[in-house]
Parts: sequence; C-alpha cells; structure tokens
Amino acid sequence: MLPKFSHIRPTSIREALAVLEEKDGLIHAGGSDLIGCLRDGVFTTDTLVSLGSIPELSGITASADGGIKIGAMTTISEIADNEAIGSGYTALADAAKVVASPQLRNQGTIAGNLCQKPRCWYYRGDFDCLRKGGEICYAYSGENQYHCIFGGDMCYIVHPSDTAPALAAHGAICRVSSPSASRSVAVEKLHVSPSVDPQREVVLEDDEIITEILVPKPPSGLRSSYRKIRARASWDFALAGVALALVFDDDTVTSARVFLSGAAPIPWRAKGVEKVITGTKLEAATIEDAALAAVTGAEPLAENGYKIELFRGLMAEQLEAIRG
Ligand SMILES: Cc1cc2nc3c(=O)[nH]c(=O)nc-3n(C[C@H](O)[C@H](O)[C@H](O)COP(=O)(O)OP(=O)(O)OC[C@H]3O[C@@H](n4cnc5c(N)ncnc54)[C@H](O)[C@@H]3O)c2cc1C
Ligand code: SF4
Repeated sequence: MLPKFSHIRPTSIREALAVLEEKDGLIHAGGSDLIGCLRDGVFTTDTLVSLGSIPELSGITASADGGIKIGAMTTISEIADNEAIGSGYTALADAAKVVASPQLRNQGTIAGNLCQKPRCWYYRGDFDCLRKGGEICYAYSGENQYHCIFGGDMCYIVHPSDTAPALAAHGAICRVSSPSASRSVAVEKLHVSPSVDPQREVVLEDDEIITEILVPKPPSGLRSSYRKIRARASWDFALAGVALALVFDDDTVTSARVFLSGAAPIPWRAKGVEKVITGTKLEAATIEDAALAAVTGAEPLAENGYKIELFRGLMAEQLEAIRG
C-alpha cells in the first residue's frame, strides 16, 4: 500500500529546487520505479516533488559543440525513436530500445533510468539488508544468481540501467542543479560503488536535480552498439550487457570505451578489453583475448558463475559484429 505523502508539482527548475531545499522530499519523474518502491515499503517519504510540469526539462536538441542535449524528463521512447540518436549514437539507441516494455519506455525518463534503485529481491522484499540500513547482505550467501561478478563489496547488486553503460560509453555528462550551484557529473562517475557507500546509488545530494544530459559530438569513425542477454525474450533486465563505443581509422581501432551491464553495482568499465583492442584491426585472436579480458578478475558468487561464459561470448560476438 502506498504511504501518505504530499505531491508538489513545481512549474520551473528554480521552484523545484526551492521545494527540495525547504522539504525533505523525493524527486518524482515518471514514477515507474519510485512509486513501486514506495508501495512495497522499500523506503518512504512525506513529500514527492514532481518534475512533470517543467517543460524545460524535456526534449532532445542539438548542443553548441555538435553533440546533443537530452532533457532529464525525456522519455526512453523518445530517445529510442530519435533520428539523430539513431544515426550518431547507436549504443544509446540500442539501449533505449531494450529498456523494459513499450509502456514503461513511454512512462520512464532518462534521468529516472540513471537513478533507479537496485532490483535485488532482498532489497525489494521484506529484508532489512545492508543497503536498507541493516547489518548483513542476504544475497551473499543466499539467492544470488542475478548478482554481480565485479565490484561487489558488502553489497552485490548489479546496476539495472541499460542506458547508463551506453551513455558512459558515449562519454555523456549530466548537468546537475542544486539550490546553491550547478555542476557537471560524467555518467561514468554518477554511480556509487558499495565499497564507498553501500546505501547510495548515485553521487547526487538529496536536493540535486539532473536537468539534462549532454552527449558529445560523435568522433569521426565512431561505431557503437549495445546488446544485453536477458532471461526472458520479452522485457527483462540484463543478465549480461555490453556497450561499445569504438573509433576506427579505416580498420584500426584508435580508441575504445567499453562498459558492461549486469556485471557490477555500477556500469563497469572494461579497461582490460579497451587495452587489448586499441591499435588493432580486431583480428580473431585479438577478439579472443578481449573476450577473456572482459572476465579477467571476475569474482562470481555461488550461483552466478554462468555469467563468466555469458560475458565472454557476448563480448566476442559484439566485437565481431562491430568489426563488420
Ligand atoms: C517491470 C520493470 C521492468 C524494467 N526493465 C528495465 C530494463 O530492462 N532496463 C532498464 O534500464 N530499466 C528497466 N526498468 C526500469 C525503468 O526503466 C525505470 O523504472 C525508469 O527508467 C525510471 O524512470 P522514471 O522516470 O519512471 O523514474 P522515477 O521512478 O520517477 O524515479 C526513479 C529514481 O530516479 C530519481 N530521479 C528521477 N529523475 C531525477 C532527476 N531529474 N534528478 C535526480 N533524480 C531523479 C528519483 O528520485 C528516483 O529515485 C524496469 C522497470 C520496471 C518496473
Ligand atoms: S546485494 Fe545489496 S541490496 Fe541485495 S541483499 Fe545484499 S546488501 Fe541488500
């Protein structure tokens, strides 16, 4: 059952920030994740501050540097259908198309997708686990087939967003406003590792709003992609996902940004893969080495060892596909 809360609908960013400064409220975008968490008692609040009546937060426009600006309240469907994103930022378009179901893509926003809460069933259920302020992680010695193989420390979630690894691969930056200042946070630095703080998902303060996401101009020779493997063919979160943004000069990879989803509590940068493939023509032997590098250092839990082969195979297939 939903708890009682007041619902405030400011009509400008300034007004929303003033409300957040005055009250201990939560930001409400599409509500597709937030309302479920409130209904299931994962956390509670006295006040929701809706961003739904602030037109300046929506839409996709060209930015001065030749890149694009995506308003925080832009829906995932708008991103999936946008022509400029489809032609210049394939990884992001691919990711947006595989988020949840059509209904959820129409409701969910890009900032909400980046800031969504983990799907760990203990966290979502009736367990007072470490992330909810309790003493222990129930997943560590419990049901952990969907949990992380990298970056686990006290808490073993995987970050659920498909768009976060794609945006990180494209080098995107969030513009963030608080009542006193504005700042930029690279999507790559937005999420918090459990080793830093197992109770926070993002580096944002409670009174900070993501206002827009800036994705830089695609470099000449960019080829990018995102693909995830899921348990059910229809809609589901990633068991394993790979976002690639590789810059080619003819057949040679001159730079690479590679992020994994379904692997770690944050979008996981696969630096080992980047190192193996940069300066190569993605020959068969290089791809084999890169696939191995993708899983080197992984620390699977009792029930998720299958992810090693999944990531290895997926990385190899994605590199072969992008080589063409
Ligand atoms: C059944 C189901 C399946 C799903 N499958 C997938 C999937 O396959 N892949 C995937 O990526 N996602 C998936 N999702 C998650 C879904 O995409 C997110 O729920 C959605 O994107 C969140 O957007 P929203 O606008 O509804 O956010 P809300 O639910 O309104 O908010 C989510 C969080 O973000 C915060 N927030 C929202 N906007 C801002 C802002 N501008 N600044 C700061 N904080 C903000 C809120 O305070 C809240 O903590 C699924 C969700 C469901 C319910
Ligand atoms: S993995 Fe994290 S969210 Fe899940 S039970 Fe453990 S501490 Fe809680």
